[in-house]
Amino acid sequence: MSLKKLKPTEPLEKLKIFLESKARGNDLIALPTFTWPFLVFLLGTCIGSFLNVCICRLPQDRSVVKPGSACPKCGHRLKWWENIPILSFLFLQAKCRSCGARISLQYPMVELSSGLLALALWYKFGLSPEIFIYFYFSACLIIVTFVDLAHQIVPDAVSLPGIALGFLFSFLLPELSWWDSLLGILMGGGILFLVAWGYYIIAHREGMGGGDIKLLAMIGAFLGWQAIPLVILLSAAVGSVTGLAIMSVRKGDRHMAISYGPFLAGAALITLFWGRELTAWYLAFISMG
Ligand SMILES: [Zn+2]
Repeated sequence: MSLKKLKPTEPLEKLKIFLESKARGNDLIALPTFTWPFLVFLLGTCIGSFLNVCICRLPQDRSVVKPGSACPKCGHRLKWWENIPILSFLFLQAKCRSCGARISLQYPMVELSSGLLALALWYKFGLSPEIFIYFYFSACLIIVTFVDLAHQIVPDAVSLPGIALGFLFSFLLPELSWWDSLLGILMGGGILFLVAWGYYIIAHREGMGGGDIKLLAMIGAFLGWQAIPLVILLSAAVGSVTGLAIMSVRKGDRHMAISYGPFLAGAALITLFWGRELTAWYLAFISMG
């Protein structure tokens, strides 16, 4: 019986059973099987709303807590019903109610991706420590992607706490030892540092920012050193195809800066969800050849 006391998820499990029994008892409530995934998606979009605030304010070194959300053009303070994830964007028809300025498509996109990632993690991990830890990780990756696309920087305010927390969380994850996490930080940070240094020696100019180095160190902290080769391979493959496509369309400067952060973030998410399958497939593939 003493073991039962130690289970931290027990209140959550009780709540889940309670909500499921409520849903079953009432015919008017939608199918009980959909209740939990729907709530998880909803919570994901609400957190996505906060991620939007982080994406807008972190590059400007502003507080993400105060003041409340306002139109960036006219300063109109948003009412609660103007601030509902995804829906407000739709019924405001992408315009500020006060001055008519266009609301960026970034807002619903961030909210939707946050909701969908929460849902995907729910289906992969269920109610477990993993879902909270990897949702935090995914949220960091969403912020990094959108900030890097707009400003070509990976904010230290995301990557540095991420490295520390990723390492601490490894003590809670049964599948990731603290040793794997620590090696992941060193390997992720070290490899890109060597690439950046090598590029600097050869080309006499900076090709990769320090932000990408810290980002890959954070990815290593959460996914372990085993994931680093796959993340580098995937991000380089997708990154170079996209880079070549952009260059051929624009026919411009081939030294033009392309953010690498979004590719690292995307590769990290693919590795989180399908890393094991991809590695098994790759090992089977090379052992055949
Ligand atoms: Zn406005």
